[in-house]
Amino acid sequence: MTATAWAPPTERVELVRAFMAERVLPNEAAIERQDDAGEALLRRLQDEVRDAGLWAPHMPPEAGGTGSGFLEYAYLNEHIGRSTWGQLVFGCQAPDAGNAEILHLFGTEEQKERWLRPLVAGTIRSFFSMTEPEVPGSDPTTLRTRAVRDGDEWVIDGHKWFSSGADGAAFGIVMAVTDPDAAPHARATQIIVPADTPGVEIVRPIVVMGHAGKGWSTHCEVRYTNVRVPDANTLGSEGAGFVIAQKRLGPGRIHHVMRWLGQMQRAFELMCSYALERETSTGALAGKQTVQNWIADSYAEIQACRLMTLDAAHKIDAGDEARVEISAIKFFAAKVLEDVIDRAVQVHGARGLTDETPLAGMMMIARGGRIYDGPDEVHRQVVAKRILRAFADGESWHFA
Ligand SMILES: Cc1cc2nc3c(=O)[nH]c(=O)nc-3n(C[C@H](O)[C@H](O)[C@H](O)COP(=O)(O)OP(=O)(O)OC[C@H]3O[C@@H](n4cnc5c(N)ncnc54)[C@H](O)[C@@H]3O)c2cc1C
Repeated sequence: MTATAWAPPTERVELVRAFMAERVLPNEAAIERQDDAGEALLRRLQDEVRDAGLWAPHMPPEAGGTGSGFLEYAYLNEHIGRSTWGQLVFGCQAPDAGNAEILHLFGTEEQKERWLRPLVAGTIRSFFSMTEPEVPGSDPTTLRTRAVRDGDEWVIDGHKWFSSGADGAAFGIVMAVTDPDAAPHARATQIIVPADTPGVEIVRPIVVMGHAGKGWSTHCEVRYTNVRVPDANTLGSEGAGFVIAQKRLGPGRIHHVMRWLGQMQRAFELMCSYALERETSTGALAGKQTVQNWIADSYAEIQACRLMTLDAAHKIDAGDEARVEISAIKFFAAKVLEDVIDRAVQVHGARGLTDETPLAGMMMIARGGRIYDGPDEVHRQVVAKRILRAFADGESWHFA
């Protein structure tokens, strides 16, 4: 791997960096209030991003975006991720980004026209409805939500939760068991369900670490009772739910990590600045060896995450599924994110827990990273199993 192969697309990276620094970060608190003024401000910033030709950088131009691959997106996302709201401002927010990708890859022309185009354009939002309260989300072969054919319709019954962004969304992609007798990974199908279909009930936004959120920032409990949608709403083929989920979750995981790089660097900068600024009777905090260790460890860990992310992005662009790389960076970066923010909070003392810095909010959001899109333990298992399989086959692991 040469450094040139990883060279950042400098001009666009600089445009995104500047927009985040000048337009998003100073307006972050106002957007976060999610009141009428905040919503209007968000829409203005989104228009500015569109005018600057930076909209939807995760999607290729033929799907309505401005992207040109994973590697470029990694460099852009590192800046977009500095604020939780950056992804919404740039039109590449989860879960819509992942839903757009699978609609682009597996949708029919009719589905693309009705759902993908407005989704990428940012005129509607969506949700992905897989996890259920009654069964382990980390083993989705246990899902209970059922879809049964009746003529040329699906009839869906089930109970989901943590359907992020379902409040106010136009449609969801629902993972439902369509053939309970099939092999475990061929039992489920993904079905597009308009949110206003009779029988779809957004029960509540779940309170997550003290916050219920609003609209895009919710994680909702959703019930599906006798929900009828046409067979034409099947995404991909019947029984392909897990194959499509894998296509969605792989890229989705690395998108999260790219944004976490921005969060880590922001926490790191706050930690370094405050360590220099805060004076004790024996000198600034920056002079204490414990604080220096935190800074040095954070630097090494963040840089390791960056390089692992760029490596995985480069391999995905080259057509590799990069399963080991993605799983490794997902669990490794989730912990680094948590650790770096935690050290930054500690350096700030009580101030780190207040709203006077963004750290408390960042910490609250970071914790979920070790659970969503597969808990740490499952990703460690994926990495270990694949490496052990290579050794069992008489090979070793090549750190290419
Ligand atoms: C902020 C947030 C947003 C989310 N958004 C969505 C969304 O939009 N759509 C959606 O469908 N879901 C979403 N989820 C749900 C998420 O994908 C699940 O929480 C996740 O898959 C884990 O499932 P579970 O919570 O049922 O935990 P379980 O599967 O019950 O696991 C519980 C714990 O058991 C341990 N464990 C599980 N399996 C193993 C194993 N093989 N080896 C060792 N230990 C193991 C882990 O420590 C794990 O944390 C979201 C979750 C969060 C926190």
